[in-house]
Amino acid sequence: MTEQTLLSSLTTLGVGGPAGRFIEAGSEAEIIDAVRTADAAGEQLLIIGGGSNLVIADEGFPGTVLRIASTGYRVSSEDSCGGASVVVQAGHNWDDLVHTSVLKAWSGLEALSGIPGLTGATPVQNVGAYGADVSQTVAAIRVWDRQRNAVQTLTNSELKFSYRDSLLKRTTAAGSPRYVVLTVEFQLALGRESAPIRYAELARILGVEVGQRAYSTDVRREVLALRASKGMVLDREDRDTYSTGSFFTNPIVPLPVASALPEQAPRFPTGDDGMVKLSAAWLIDRAGFGKGFGLEPDSVAGARAALSTKHTLAISNRGGASTRDVLGIARRVRDGVRDTFGIMLEPEPLLIGCSL
Ligand SMILES: Cc1cc2nc3c(=O)[nH]c(=O)nc-3n(C[C@H](O)[C@H](O)[C@H](O)COP(=O)(O)OP(=O)(O)OC[C@H]3O[C@@H](n4cnc5c(N)ncnc54)[C@H](O)[C@@H]3O)c2cc1C
Repeated sequence: MTEQTLLSSLTTLGVGGPAGRFIEAGSEAEIIDAVRTADAAGEQLLIIGGGSNLVIADEGFPGTVLRIASTGYRVSSEDSCGGASVVVQAGHNWDDLVHTSVLKAWSGLEALSGIPGLTGATPVQNVGAYGADVSQTVAAIRVWDRQRNAVQTLTNSELKFSYRDSLLKRTTAAGSPRYVVLTVEFQLALGRESAPIRYAELARILGVEVGQRAYSTDVRREVLALRASKGMVLDREDRDTYSTGSFFTNPIVPLPVASALPEQAPRFPTGDDGMVKLSAAWLIDRAGFGKGFGLEPDSVAGARAALSTKHTLAISNRGGASTRDVLGIARRVRDGVRDTFGIMLEPEPLLIGCSL
């Protein structure tokens, strides 16, 4: 345990004030013990994994910050009928798991290559990219239920996954979850081929039709290249990646709202009756906030925070930014999109002790 750990050192965005108390838990037993102790003392609790989806106030977090550091996985079954059932500790690095899955010819995670953070956080917002998300492969998770003071298993259907959302996120208040993820069990098909490619740009690069498969090694390589070109793979040399990835979710709106937008606005059917998913990046760009917005020294946040120079959906810390600076850019962009298109963007990362 250390005193006065700065949360800016534990987040990819590099902002956030001090933790009241900081603990790291390297095993399931230590996680449960730390959570029970904080709960028994009535302390506020913030769970942190890789810190890649968190915006924490400049004032910091007054309670206990628990960093999950349990690593490892075990194959609970593997056969040609059922595929591989892999149980992964919450603190296991996500991209290491994806890499392992590709090497071992377990299919289904390859399109999620390069996403920062830890495995235990992936079901929280149903992490996704390039037409895939973890709801397609999570079989079940084991959690510590802080309300019942007990370990519990939640199955895929109980997790009520939807776009960047799940039961876990909906029962989290101010970074303090009801359910603390201990392990995640994935059900993966066996084979060197990927799951069907659902994203047109990726399919084109791979030379396949949407819905066809490719070699998982090729999918991983192309996804990593695509992500790097958009500043979406962590690179400490690249300020564009000092971010939370996408700062806003893609809005899902009723058909008449989507129809009122300019003809060129990208629209994606959601499968839900009459609802259409829009591109937040397109709306931001067309509302006048291009790549690098905020880099002018006299602009919103004094050039300390700005939209990524590679993608309008990411807000990046250019060096020395505060949470206030990041939120200043976010508010300007959100309000500009609302004033131009009448659509309210919602933040994707969890905002702790601060709001938009
Ligand atoms: C460059 C970049 C690119 C990104 N690209 C993508 C992308 O393509 N798709 C995508 O979906 N996301 C993306 N993200 C966001 C982020 O990487 C994911 O949301 C990731 O899953 C967060 O993991 P983490 O371990 O860093 O979680 P943290 O940021 O530490 O925590 C996120 C939330 O999960 C909770 N949490 C963490 N661990 C646990 C646990 N064990 N039990 C209960 N709650 C827990 C935290 O309390 C917090 O509320 C990107 C981020 C960056 C910086």
